[in-house]
Amino acid sequence: MHNLSQKKVLNYKALALFSGGLDSILAVLFIRAQGIQVEGVYFESPFFPRNQAVKSAEQINLPLKIVDITHDILALVRHPRFGYGQGLNPCLDCHLLMCNKACEIMHQEGYNFIISGEVLGQRPLSQTKQAMLKINKECLCSDYIVRPLSGKLLPPTIPEQKGIVQREMLLDIRGRSRKKQMQLATQLGLKTYPSPAGGCLLTDQTIAARLRDLLAHQKNILPRDLELLKLGRHFRLNPATKAIVGRNREENKKIEALGLYEDALLETIDYPSPLVLIPFGGDLDGQKWAAMLTASYSDAPLDKSVSIKMKWKGEEKILFTSVCSKEKLHKYLIQKLEK
Ligand code: SF4
Repeated sequence: MHNLSQKKVLNYKALALFSGGLDSILAVLFIRAQGIQVEGVYFESPFFPRNQAVKSAEQINLPLKIVDITHDILALVRHPRFGYGQGLNPCLDCHLLMCNKACEIMHQEGYNFIISGEVLGQRPLSQTKQAMLKINKECLCSDYIVRPLSGKLLPPTIPEQKGIVQREMLLDIRGRSRKKQMQLATQLGLKTYPSPAGGCLLTDQTIAARLRDLLAHQKNILPRDLELLKLGRHFRLNPATKAIVGRNREENKKIEALGLYEDALLETIDYPSPLVLIPFGGDLDGQKWAAMLTASYSDAPLDKSVSIKMKWKGEEKILFTSVCSKEKLHKYLIQKLEK
């Protein structure tokens, strides 16, 4: 049984790499129990938004800074040094980036050390001993990163050597099972905590396929282009034209709200239909295909000519098209990532 009753408050301050998951919550609680003040940092991008981290930080009264790393993570997705996981997730590079960003904050803002909720051997790519050593080798302040959940299995860090952190109070958790962490949560009275699934959208095969297509066809990527990856069905109609088809009313609204002046928006005039968005308008041939796509996903019957209203750059235009079978259109659908 762990006794985490707080010791006398010391004049030390730690920065927690805080994901909001159970491991990072426990890491904070175990360091805090040593009398060390802890604040958290969450590195955010559209692929891993802040929601869970904010919620968990509130639950344990952890002051949390949010730092946007969208630009850096896109650069790593384009050219990962250490490869991808199951999707387009460059986990080793991403860990290294977060470590180095945390090091900068530690130095600039006077933290004594950094804590991370990583558990040895928990994730195949980024948390093997070999991977941790690789990250440690390149991280600007690796000797200052304490991993409370596996600390006893790892070489002593500088905060331990200096007596800031009591090594005997660290844990020796290893492997993928979360049994020990769940027992600890119960002992510490944590009633709710997030399940480990979900999280980073770069691991999602469909989002990864859409992102790969976007990177291949568009040079300057805007934050809203990344938000659009999460909505609708995506069709690559030709190198200049992608069409995003809303799947329901709620998605139609979100897609419309993310639209820009340069985008083309299409819908049928006489039948209920999805909203179809062509980012930056595409080309004329692509617009004709997008009109057919709009008709084909509407309630229009197979044998009728269908009128499509297209709004583009402040003007409205009517396109005439027909319904095509979804099987024929299927080859344009951006589906799961194939490696
Ligand atoms: S899962 Fe996503 S957020 Fe986590 S390390 Fe990998 S790329 Fe980064």
